[in-house]
Amino acid sequence: MSPINISSVHNCYGCGLCATTCPKGIISIQLNADGFYEPRIANPDSCIGCSLCVDVCSYLHKDFIMQEEIRPRGYAAWSNDNLVRKKCSSGGISFELGRLLINKGYKVCGVRYKAQSNRAEHFIATTMRDLVWTIGSKYIQSYTLDGFRAMDRNKRYMVIGTPCQMDSFRRYIRKFKCEDNFLLIDFFCHGVPSMWMWNKYIKKVEKITGPVTYVSWRNKFSGWHNSWLMGVDGASHSLSNNQSNSYEDLIKERKTFYQSDIPHGDAFYRIFLDNGCLGPACYEKCKFKRCCSSADIRIGDFLGETFKSDEKGTSAVITLSEKGDSILKESSCQLIECPLEKVMEGQMETMPPKPKYYYALKKTLNNPNTSISVVEQIVLKAQRRSRILRIMKNPLKAIIHLVRRLHI
Ligand SMILES: Cc1cc2nc3c(=O)[nH]c(=O)nc-3n(C[C@H](O)[C@H](O)[C@H](O)COP(=O)(O)OP(=O)(O)OC[C@H]3O[C@@H](n4cnc5c(N)ncnc54)[C@H](O)[C@@H]3O)c2cc1C
Repeated sequence: MSPINISSVHNCYGCGLCATTCPKGIISIQLNADGFYEPRIANPDSCIGCSLCVDVCSYLHKDFIMQEEIRPRGYAAWSNDNLVRKKCSSGGISFELGRLLINKGYKVCGVRYKAQSNRAEHFIATTMRDLVWTIGSKYIQSYTLDGFRAMDRNKRYMVIGTPCQMDSFRRYIRKFKCEDNFLLIDFFCHGVPSMWMWNKYIKKVEKITGPVTYVSWRNKFSGWHNSWLMGVDGASHSLSNNQSNSYEDLIKERKTFYQSDIPHGDAFYRIFLDNGCLGPACYEKCKFKRCCSSADIRIGDFLGETFKSDEKGTSAVITLSEKGDSILKESSCQLIECPLEKVMEGQMETMPPKPKYYYALKKTLNNPNTSISVVEQIVLKAQRRSRILRIMKNPLKAIIHLVRRLHI
């Protein structure tokens, strides 16, 4: 028997659709003890048992919502606007789709980084100036509730989010019979790291920058393939104090004050990419790999061999509905149709395994007094240990690997 509300749901996707839907407004979304968003019911006695929160919850359903019986189509794509392509994480497709749809009278529900609260959050962009704030992947879990609640179901929106957020969102708009008003976009998703890791990381950076005013993950200062850098502006050191002045201001190539200079060596990416502290649902309940999606369009980096010498950024795009396909074709993007297997090459095919150090790391992360350096040491030690084990198992392979890395 399905539950009447989400009061027993923990460690879920934290998508916030339960709280968005609740007619009594008694559900809030809060960070749990491990630093991930999850719902709380403040006053269970006020629940009227309508079960809407359960109906729209992707986490409580085994399947994802199929769109139509169409063959997914794959593309390589990039924005025709060089500034956009340079500033965006991949080829700038989400920005171009947003630009097209804003010009058609839609609004965009996307994610910006809010420095005051040190978090990524969904918000409504109605102008191009607003849309600029969505640029760039913020590799942390977004707080969706304010953005989702601000939408009027009778108006038209493009909504972008992680696949799990978009699956619940599809259930929500299907339930309220307003799917025609929405275009949903998701992306190939690695998972989201604990906010405790992000908070500790920022605490360290702020010693150099002062209170953070702007963050850009994976900017292309050193090219696209090597874009695992972090750019942070702080109140005491930013080059420009008001980056929201204009479209041109934010979009132009800017150097930020703090920039980690070792790709993959930066503590944030080291821990994130080693899958050290992803959400429990990312390890155990992600049903959205490859082209399993409830969105109209899935985007991502075009990994693999095809564009390995491109340094400007190319998006991998899969259209999953006729609507998605025809809107993509209207956008100001260069499109090359590609076999799906090429579009998905290099993307995660299964849920990531928990590393051996997962529980030790979690305990350290959950201690508010430990620093990011202590957390990073746990990962570094484990990585060193597994490198030594690899060498002992197959010394010849290890030497070839080393020679390749050193380009001897
Ligand atoms: C948590 C996370 C995991 C990812 N994992 C992968 C992966 O495994 N493989 C891969 O190829 N790409 C991954 N990406 C990157 C994703 O592919 C790019 O965001 C996407 O291709 C958009 O690039 P773009 O050039 O079109 O535009 P950009 O303008 O750079 O796009 C960023 C878009 O993503 C939205 N967005 C940013 N941060 C978030 C967030 N935290 N939650 C929800 N939406 C957000 C913004 O609203 C914006 O529309 C990940 C991104 C995130 C945030």
